[in-house]
Amino acid sequence: MATIAANLQAVNKRIERTTQSCGRAASSVRLIAVSKTFAAARIAEARAAGQRAFGENYMQEAIVKMDELAGLALEWHFIGPIQSNKTRLIAERFDWVHSVDRLKIAERLSAARPAALPPLNVLIQVNIDDERSKSGVAPNAAPALARAIAALPRLKLAGLMTIPQPAAVVAAQRRPFAALRRLRDEIAAAGVALEHLSMGMSADLEAAIAEGATLVRVGTAIFGQRNAMNGGR
Ligand SMILES: *Cc1c(COP(=O)(O)O)cnc(C)c1O
Repeated sequence: MATIAANLQAVNKRIERTTQSCGRAASSVRLIAVSKTFAAARIAEARAAGQRAFGENYMQEAIVKMDELAGLALEWHFIGPIQSNKTRLIAERFDWVHSVDRLKIAERLSAARPAALPPLNVLIQVNIDDERSKSGVAPNAAPALARAIAALPRLKLAGLMTIPQPAAVVAAQRRPFAALRRLRDEIAAAGVALEHLSMGMSADLEAAIAEGATLVRVGTAIFGQRNAMNGGR
C-alpha cells in the first residue's frame, strides 16, 4: 500500500515535471493537501513528510482536526461552500479562503477577522463553465466583486479559484483554466492585482499548471479515495 509520504513525493514530482516543461519555477506552484474526510493522524503523517498547507471543506470537521493538531503550525485553507453563520469561525481559524463568491460573505469575513491576525487571504470562486452549479460568481460579475473585496480592510484579495466540470483529455481540461487566467488578466488590467490562480486537483493538475495555476488543491492523489469508511463525500 502506498504511504502518504510516497504519494506526496509523487504529486510533488508531477508538479516539478510540469513546471519544468512549461518553463516555470517549481516554487511558483504551491501544493494544498485536501484532507477533508481524513483523520488528523493522516494530516500529521503528511506534515512529517514535509507538507504544511491543508485544505478543508467542512467547518465542524476542520475545527476538530485543527484542535488536535494545534502544535504543528499548519497553514489552513477553507475551500468549501461558505454558510454565512460560519464566517466568524472561518475568519478566526483559517489562513486562506478559496471559496468567496459574494460580497456579503466577504464583508462578514472582514468584520470577523481578529485584529491580532494578519488580513485573511481570500480568493474569489468563479463559476467558469458550469451553468448548473450554484457555487461561484459568474465570470462577468467577477470584476466588480474583486473591486469591492479589494476595498475591505481585513481581507487580502489574493486571486481567483475555480472547480471546472471534470474532463478526460488534457485539451478539454485546459479550456476552463485558460478562461480563468484570462479573467484574472482582465481584472488585473483594470487595476486589481490578483497574484494567485487556485485551480487543478488530482486528475487535472498538469492542465492547470500549464495555464498558470499557482495553488493546486490535491486530495485523492495524496490521501487515497474518499469512501464510506472515512466519511467520503
Ligand atoms: C475535494 C476537493 C479537492 C480535491 O479533489 P481531489 O480530486 O481529491 O484531488 C479540491 N478542491 C476542492 C474545492 C475540493 O472540494
